[in-house]
Amino acid sequence: MAAELPKTLRIVGKTYDSVKVPLIDDCGLCEDHTQQIKIDTKMGHDLERDTLLHEAIHAIDYCMQLSMSEKQVNGMGTALYALLNDNPELIKYLIAKPRKGKTNGQDTSMDSQGGKKPKRGTQRQGARKLQRSKSR
Ligand SMILES: [Zn+2]
Repeated sequence: MAAELPKTLRIVGKTYDSVKVPLIDDCGLCEDHTQQIKIDTKMGHDLERDTLLHEAIHAIDYCMQLSMSEKQVNGMGTALYALLNDNPELIKYLIAKPRKGKTNGQDTSMDSQGGKKPKRGTQRQGARKLQRSKSR
């Protein structure tokens, strides 16, 4: 099943149009002011998808004012593409709706065994911590 390029992407609450156009020097472009992502017409299967994700990350960077470098956007795009591609079950898990009886607004702090869920980021050593004030 060959999926088509999505016509729009919802990115941090904004709708970006995505279009395939012939580009000279770039694989893709993200134009934040017009909310448009342009993808070159003549790319291979994987590079086209990697590029769409790359441009979406540029849009996230813009919306969230992260000031990511091109190298960071490249790394995140390629790594996320590989992660999602290599773990189709992860995508299903991430987009799954809550089970019946565990809808939003209800207490979901107990897991199926009746135990407390571990708090995010505290269950293992080496968990990445938010560092809001430090910048390098
Ligand atoms: Zn880029």
